[in-house]
Amino acid sequence: MLDITALKALLAQPKRIVITTHHKPDGDAIGSSLGLYNYLIQHGHHAKVITPTDYPQFFDWMPGNEQVIIYTEHIAQSNQLVAEAELIFCLDFNALSRINELGAEVEKSTAVKIMIDHHLEPQDFDDYRYWNINACATAQLIYEFIVNELHDKALINKDVASCLYTGIMTDSGSFRFPNTTSAVHRIVADLIDAGAVNWHIHELVYNSATEARLRFLGHCLADKLEVLPEYNTALITVTQAELERYHIITGDTEGIVNYALSIIGIKLAAFIVERKDRVKLSLRSKGDFPANDICKKYFNGGGHRNAAGGHSDESLEQVIAQFKSILPNYKTLLIQ
Ligand code: 5GP
Ligand code: MN
Repeated sequence: MLDITALKALLAQPKRIVITTHHKPDGDAIGSSLGLYNYLIQHGHHAKVITPTDYPQFFDWMPGNEQVIIYTEHIAQSNQLVAEAELIFCLDFNALSRINELGAEVEKSTAVKIMIDHHLEPQDFDDYRYWNINACATAQLIYEFIVNELHDKALINKDVASCLYTGIMTDSGSFRFPNTTSAVHRIVADLIDAGAVNWHIHELVYNSATEARLRFLGHCLADKLEVLPEYNTALITVTQAELERYHIITGDTEGIVNYALSIIGIKLAAFIVERKDRVKLSLRSKGDFPANDICKKYFNGGGHRNAAGGHSDESLEQVIAQFKSILPNYKTLLIQ
């Protein structure tokens, strides 16, 4: 493991740097990556962001978006960048399986690997770790890393601030989850002072739905929501055919699970979707209920206590049946 002095010495000269984040990047993944990118380039580093897969169009406005390389669309170029990198920043994930095929490339690279993350149970593949599960977003950690470790607050310009604001806003559920502490609000205030236009970022991210997306949401709520009062659980399940009927693209299903959780008394909500290659689950919970426990034990996944995800290679029907069959194991926690 490297210490901060050694890392600072490395960053003192321009380096070839790759920044990567988890597959299907969300606002925090892409916001922390581009926030760090916009910081590093001010020091003359040759930085590139590589995402394992594509990400929602409503993040395309972010400064630095034009240089992002999507791994699945540019495999050879990405592999070369990773192989030639002197430093690799791994943001908003802590297990190489979260970056798909890119994981093997990062693993064999001789670059210094820096993990900045807020997920539980990090895997040991890094040389320097800035990790705190109490952080509401990795973007919060990027801010703290730049300000408190690198003592470079002056370089938090409008571009850096806009990206980090987006990461914190999206991962904290627009500043409403329990980890949105007063310290987070102070950071957010700093980001606004540095040029992040808060109301405009909310517009760009949240008021940018297509008509199809909104109608799909209506379909999910009117026709696909199932409430299981005996378990204080609600689920929404969607087939591949429905995704096609509504022309659903990356990002369109984001946040739908929260509507199921918004029902009074509901402690656990699930969104189960049949994607082309496998079935994906998104779980959300209130209070102490460990959504990540279900994902980890039964669905090859994990995450945070109140927001977790997983997947299965079984059919959609089987996954739904399995999910329901698990609920009795958690009945005490769900009904208390
Ligand atoms: P989402 O439901 O939005 O896909 O994911 C919610 C949370 O669970 C995110 O913090 C994400 O990092 C985590 N998560 C989602 N899928 C997986 C997975 O397959 N493995 C692990 N370890 N975490 C996941
Ligand atoms: Mn995050």
